[in-house]
Amino acid sequence: MLVKGEKQWRVVKFADNRSYLCAMNILDGKIAAEAVKAALKVQVAERAAAGKKIPHLAAILVGNNGASATYVAAKVKACEQTGFISTLIRLEETVTQQKLLETIKGLNQDPDVDGILVQLPLPAQISEQEVIDAIDPLKDVDGFHPVNVGKMVLGVEGFVPATPLGIMLLLAHYNINTSGLHAVVIGRSNIVGRPMSILLSGNAQPGNCTVTLCHSKTKELTTHCQQADLIVAALGKPLFLKADMVKEGAIVIDVGITRIDDATRKNGFRLLGDVEYETVAPKCSWITPVPGGVGPMTIAALMKNTFLACSRK
Ligand code: NAD
Repeated sequence: MLVKGEKQWRVVKFADNRSYLCAMNILDGKIAAEAVKAALKVQVAERAAAGKKIPHLAAILVGNNGASATYVAAKVKACEQTGFISTLIRLEETVTQQKLLETIKGLNQDPDVDGILVQLPLPAQISEQEVIDAIDPLKDVDGFHPVNVGKMVLGVEGFVPATPLGIMLLLAHYNINTSGLHAVVIGRSNIVGRPMSILLSGNAQPGNCTVTLCHSKTKELTTHCQQADLIVAALGKPLFLKADMVKEGAIVIDVGITRIDDATRKNGFRLLGDVEYETVAPKCSWITPVPGGVGPMTIAALMKNTFLACSRK
């Protein structure tokens, strides 16, 4: 059993045939997220002391999906921790698209609200894309609006989706030099995989990777993964990435979160990532745990985006 914070040393043979002493380290999202939030808390206090506006995040939660409610609660809690104002708007599962769009319009027009997030997924009667399109791009702290997606692709300042941004912040926190690495991203969703591939290929640090974007129709996925220096697993298939798919010394980022029923747990479930951690971790130079890896960083990145939305005004 590998324990968080535990460091293991091993001899690793690289492509040039020389052997190096490598350590497997945990990319601890809880620690990095606390650092991001602590820095924001100081900046919020400075704004307050100067009589400036305090960041205000408005979150809309539709229906009673347990996981969504947990995520929104964690975001509201993070606002409290960092000194932000938060407003939680709960709407019935049966809410009409028109009612939801009117709610967003009201938040767009409210000068006190800096950031708006609509927790996904939404019920079937609602078009997610129309909802995303309705959010003012200047308040789109989830970074899903086409204007912000375009800005991210161009490398122009906008809002970057929270999960990929959180991963970039995590790599930066641990000072990992990704320049020139071959990165394999598994999953091409608009909220994780695709933006992740764009950020990792960007001319920045972290970034400057050569990226292969894999998806459900990719052939020879194992071969691609075996050649990767950095793997981001974001496909939502528990324990998908196995040890034989990962080369020695690779960096592995596990984005997946799947709830599995577990009667032995107080809450009735446990969380599984997309990586078979126990077997993969010993081969890695760096790896994220689940939970405690990408999840906390997603929230920290959302806070960072909300602070930006406020300070850009
Ligand atoms: P999604 O279902 O929208 O996309 C999954 C992607 O994986 C698709 O592009 C699909 O082509 C690809 N895929 C599916 N099966 C595959 C296979 N066998 N081989 C290769 N590719 C395959 O999912 P998503 O919204 O991107 O989320 C992915 C996972 O990340 C989920 O478990 C989700 O819960 C989790 N997630 C975590 C966070 C966090 O903060 N930690 C945030 C967002 C999503």
